[in-house]
Amino acid sequence: MKMLLTKKFAFEMAHALDGYDGKCANLHGHSYHLEVTVEGTELNSNGMAIDFGRIKTLVQSVVINRFDHALVLKKGSPLASNPNTFSNLIEVPFNPTTENLLIHFATLLEPQMPIGTRLHGLRLAETDSSVAELLL
Ligand SMILES: [Zn+2]
Repeated sequence: MKMLLTKKFAFEMAHALDGYDGKCANLHGHSYHLEVTVEGTELNSNGMAIDFGRIKTLVQSVVINRFDHALVLKKGSPLASNPNTFSNLIEVPFNPTTENLLIHFATLLEPQMPIGTRLHGLRLAETDSSVAELLL
């Protein structure tokens, strides 16, 4: 048996794409929508593959609490040169595109998955019409 459970999250985040020839090189923000899908293979005595509340707690502590209302920039970006300007700056070793953020979030979440479950996939929408999905 393979049971897939998806929990939905929303957070606000600013970013800029370093070295990009387009509007996204400018500092701007998105209201991101993140969907986290966890796979379980058997149900516990409560009839659950994994408690939705457990997914919520995990994703909030690992992803949402860190990235909500943060400014995320590639390390070395000229915009990051005055960190005093931004109280919640996260520098990452990659351009913070939707695709790279998905890979990063998966890397953070995978080691935290409860025994008997695994991370199946992540979907991240930066606008209503722009969605990336990572299947693991
Ligand atoms: Zn953007």
